[in-house]
Amino acid sequence: MNPATSSVSAISLRSGESLPIEFHKVRVVQRVNLAPVERRLAAIREAGFNTFLLPTRDVFLDMLTDSGTNAMSDTQVAAMSVADDAYAGSASFERLLEAARELFGKERLLPAHQGRAAEHVICQAFVKPGSVVPMNYHFTTTRAHIELAGGEIRELLRPGSVEPRSTEPFKGNIDVLALERVLDENKGRVPFVRMEASTNLIGGQPFSLANLRAASVAARSRGVPLVLDASLLGENVWFMKRREAACSGMTIPQIFREASALADIVYFSARKISSSRGGAIMTSDDKLYYAMRDLIPLFEGFLTYGGMSTKEIESMAVGLRESCDEAVIGQSPAFIEHLATRLDAAGVPVVLPPGALGCHVDARAFLPQLGPADYPAGALVAAFFIASGVRGMERGMISSSRDAEGKEIPADMELMRLALPRRVYTLSQIRFVEDRLEWLHENRELVGGLRFVEEPPVLRFFTGRLEAVGDWPERLAAKYRRDFGGGL
Ligand SMILES: *Cc1c(COP(=O)(O)O)cnc(C)c1O
Repeated sequence: MNPATSSVSAISLRSGESLPIEFHKVRVVQRVNLAPVERRLAAIREAGFNTFLLPTRDVFLDMLTDSGTNAMSDTQVAAMSVADDAYAGSASFERLLEAARELFGKERLLPAHQGRAAEHVICQAFVKPGSVVPMNYHFTTTRAHIELAGGEIRELLRPGSVEPRSTEPFKGNIDVLALERVLDENKGRVPFVRMEASTNLIGGQPFSLANLRAASVAARSRGVPLVLDASLLGENVWFMKRREAACSGMTIPQIFREASALADIVYFSARKISSSRGGAIMTSDDKLYYAMRDLIPLFEGFLTYGGMSTKEIESMAVGLRESCDEAVIGQSPAFIEHLATRLDAAGVPVVLPPGALGCHVDARAFLPQLGPADYPAGALVAAFFIASGVRGMERGMISSSRDAEGKEIPADMELMRLALPRRVYTLSQIRFVEDRLEWLHENRELVGGLRFVEEPPVLRFFTGRLEAVGDWPERLAAKYRRDFGGGL
C-alpha cells in the first residue's frame, strides 16, 4: 500500500458529524432497475413471498447476502488475467500461499471451493459420532457438517448476546467459564473448539482479541485445538482496532497475525474475506495438516487448486493482501453503522451495536402485532421488498427447521438482514433504504403474517413458498401509491 493511502473509512464534516465515505471510485457498473410498486407486489407474489426465489431483474438493491457479491478491485481483476492454468504446481497457487502466509502467519494451506467445503473437510477429518464441538455460535453450514459427521454443537455465547439492543461491544464473545466446563465434562470427546469471527447469525457481532486469547488458552491447555472461522475476520479485526483498547495501538496486520496465532486451524470463505470466490484451510501444525490433506483431492481437487479456477486463486491472493487496508475492511461496517444509527434514531428497531455484513432489523419489535407462527421476519422482508424493491433475507424461524414431531422451534432472534456487500452500494442508495424502511415502520400496522403453501423438509428457506394471510400486501402497495403519488 502506498504510504499516502488513506487508511480510514470515514471523514469528519465541519459540523463534527462523521460520514462514511467511499475510498474507491466506480469504473465498471451494472445497470439496476427500480420497478413500480405494483410490479414489486406481483414479483414477490410470483416468488412465493420468498426473496430467494426473486430473479435479479425484479430487484433494485440486492441485499440478500455478502457472499460472492462483493466488488473486486482493479488490481484483483488485473491479476486474474495472468492466472497460471495448471492441474498441479500452478504459480497462481504459489502466489496465494505467499499472500495467505503473510496475512495469517500460518505455513500450510489447503484450498477448497468455498467456505462450507473447508468445513466439510475439517469435520470429516476430526468429528466423529459422539463428538461435542463447543463454539461461540453456529453458522448454518458449519452446524450441518458437524452433525453430518455425527457430532453435536454447544453454543456458548455470554448472556445478553442475542438481545437485539445492547451496548456490549463484543457480543460474539464466548463464555470462557462455560467453555472450560464443557471441555472438562466432555474429556476425549471434543475434537476442537470453534470461534467464528463477526458471528454471522447474531448480526455480524465480533469477539474481542482478549476473549479469543482466553478461549485459546482454555482449549490448548487441555490439548484441544482451536479452529477459527475467519470468513468475516477482516471486519472483526476492524472492530477490535476501534472497540478494544489493547488493539488501538496495533496495526491491522498485527491484529490479523495475533488472532490467527491463537488458532491452530484457520479457515475461511473467500466469497467474504478477500471479495473473491473459493475458500481455504490453514495450519502450521503438521499433524493437523496431514489429517486433512488427503481429503482435498478426494472432495475438492488437487492440492494446488482445490476446486477453484486459477483466476479465483489470483483474485483471492490480491484480495487477502488488500484486507490489511482499513479502508477496504472498514467500508461495509462503516456504512452499516451509518444506516443502523440513523434507523435507531428514527425509532426503527435494529440490532445494536451495529455489526458486520449487514444491518439487521428486529422483526419482533418492528411488527409486535405478529406472533411467532406468522413468521414476522419473513413478513417484514416481503413487506420491505414491496416498499423498496430491496431484497433482504429472512433470518428467523423460517431459516431453521421443525423438530422431530413437526413443531416449529422458536428462533433466538427474528431478523431481517440487509446485507451490504463490500464496496457495492453508494451512500445515496443506503439513504434510500433508510427512507423506505422508515416509511414502512410508520405503516407497520398494515403488515400481516405469512403461511407456507409449499414447505420442503430440509433447508426450507431456500425453496419454500408462502402466501400472505389476508390482503395486507395489496393494502400496503395501495398506501405506498397514495403516499408517493406517481413516483417510484
Ligand atoms: C459464508 C460463511 C461460511 C460458508 O462459506 P461459503 O463460501 O458460503 O460456503 C462459513 N462461515 C461463515 C461465518 C460464513 O459467513
